[in-house]
Order: sequence, then structure tokens, then C-alpha cells
Amino acid sequence: MNRFFLILPLFMVKNKVYTNMKEIPSMKNDKKSTNIIPEIITAVVFFMIFIQPLHAQQEKTFVAKSGDGIYSILRDNDLPASAINEFIELNKEVLGGNKELKIGVEYRLPLERQDGTNSTKPEIPEEDSTPIATKRFPIFGPQHEDVEIKSNELGNAVYYLVSGHGGPDPGAVGKRKNKELCEDEYAYDITLRLARELLSMGATVYMITRDNNDGIRDGWYLPADKDETCYPNLRIPLNQNLRLRQRKDAVNKLYKQYKGRYQRTIIIHVDSRSRGEKIDVFFYHDKRSSSGRETALSLLNTFDSKYNEHQPGRGYHGSVTARNLYMLKYTWPVATYIELGNINHYRDLKRFIIESNRQALAKWLAEGLKNDYENNR
Ligand SMILES: [Zn+2]
Repeated sequence: MNRFFLILPLFMVKNKVYTNMKEIPSMKNDKKSTNIIPEIITAVVFFMIFIQPLHAQQEKTFVAKSGDGIYSILRDNDLPASAINEFIELNKEVLGGNKELKIGVEYRLPLERQDGTNSTKPEIPEEDSTPIATKRFPIFGPQHEDVEIKSNELGNAVYYLVSGHGGPDPGAVGKRKNKELCEDEYAYDITLRLARELLSMGATVYMITRDNNDGIRDGWYLPADKDETCYPNLRIPLNQNLRLRQRKDAVNKLYKQYKGRYQRTIIIHVDSRSRGEKIDVFFYHDKRSSSGRETALSLLNTFDSKYNEHQPGRGYHGSVTARNLYMLKYTWPVATYIELGNINHYRDLKRFIIESNRQALAKWLAEGLKNDYENNR
């Protein structure tokens, strides 16, 4: 019930747009040289010219106020989310075990580097891709059911993934080439892909909305059906209140089994209740939950840098907001509610009907969740 212990600060709703965080990929030196001396000299000169002045840069500090989190501080100081490890390293003496900022305490900020990156640490080497094990999960369908567990990075994490609508309720309905595109099918496909990503990093994952005969599906058109169930295998009622209560109960029952573990409920929708033309990806948390806000910010930051990397200049207008939503309010694990866009909006539609986009969204979500786990577990 950790969420209810964190009622203390009531946060202002932040609704900012961040567009100018650019990460420049690090230079990789693949050159193989037989004579190493000139390389050493070059390296020394490089150090003298470029590294030296960095240390001369003035170090910035700040005093935490109510509502501050590491991510929000980095953002307010134009530092990328990737600077978080350096921040933790710099402040390890004053940061508590749960990495929360304490009001009134002074913290050091990582230096801004002229090359646009903020880490003075070497890049973490790529993970060994040899799988630890392969496990079978029939819910992903015959072509995807074997999942390679590649690491144990999320070993202590438990996720409850709730894709929106389902059963008798298709959610929002879009149209393309005379076919009806039902929100619940697209949300479900992305949620399945997310589940698979999380499992591959060693997490424990529960699909709360389930469909026993729709695995991960290819192609742009996902035909609609009404046979989704709620974990473990309950018929989904038509009445919205009953449906939400059923999901909430499923999550809360499981929650008790995992007391003491890092647990997150992730609710995924592909419609937008947001006003007018506002589109893009929105992340919501319960106003009483600072951990929920941190999780939402981790996701937003990941999307921020992914969009900058893959579609620079597009302008990404996601946001993190506190909202009064049933699933955020009544599920015991920290919860984040995600609107991935609007199935009725032309620009957003491409995000869902292109299979590789669904996979990319799932990957980005998994990466954002991994960042949150690393920083807030
Ligand atoms: Zn929806």
C-alpha cells in the first residue's frame, strides 16, 4: 500500500512541453591500430584541450523544495534524463536509499558538457545477449510464445498491465479503408509487446486484460472480437463501473502476494480524452502518489529522448498530469495511466497501424519503466 503512505506533498500539475533535449550519440572508436604511441599522444592532447576546461566549469547546486524529484530537477536545469546516474553518484552521501530528494537539503548537479552529453562515465557496455533461459507464454501466440530471458535487470519488479476496454467494450473506433479499427485491439497488441519486453528483462508480468486466442499480431488491421477476459479468466462485464472494479480487484489481490517488491500498474489506452486537437502521449498519475509521478516522468523523459533521436524537429508534446481516474485511485500498486494517442486522429493512427511502430512504442515504454525501476526501486 506504499502509495497511500506518500500522500504528503500535493503536487502542482505540471504540463510542460520539452522539445530541445538532444542526445548526441557517443563517438565510438573502432579503429584498430598497430602503433599505439601516436594514439596515446592524441589522447593526451585531447584530454588537455577538451577535458581540462570542463573541470574549470562552475558546479551548480540546488536546495530541494516540496514536490521536487530527480527527473524534474534535471529537466528544469536542461539536463537530459541520462544524467541521472551521474546525479546519484554525485549525491550518494545525501540521497536516501529510496533516492528521494529531501526538502531543504542541498544537492550537486552534474556539469553540462559542451558536446551535449552529460556523462563523464564511460558508456555501459552492451549487455551480453546470450539468454539466461527461454520461457513459454502461450498468450503471445504461436510465433511469439517463446521468450528469451536476456537479463535479470527487472528481477524484483512486478507489473500489472491493463490494456483499456476489451470484452463487450471496443473503446474508441477509428476508420481506415472501410474497416473499423477498435481501440481495445490496438491497446492490447501494444500491451502484449510491452509484456514480452519486460519479461525478457527478468520482470514478473501479469496481463490483466487477456485474450487467449489473439497473440501478438502483425499487419495494420487487427480484427475486433469480444472474447477478452480479466485475469485469471473472468468474463468482462459491459457495465463500466463493474468492469473497472473487476480489474482493480484482480490487481489488488495479486499485490498482496508481492508485498515488499517494486510493483507497478500500467494502464494503456489508445484514445484521447484530452481536449480538442491535443494529441501525442499523455501520462497520468494519482495526485497523492509521488512515486506514480516519478514513474510517469521516467516514461515521458524516455519518449522525449526517443522522439528527439528518431524524429528530430517533429516536436513532442507529451505531458505528465495528475488525474482523478478510478484505476489510478483504487489500485494499490503505484499506477500510471497512459494515453498513447488517438485512434481517431490521422497523425496518431500511423502510430498504431504500422506494426513496427507498435513494437517501438512497447520498447520505449519498457525502457522508461526500466529507468524508473533503476531510480525508484
Ligand atoms: Zn480508451
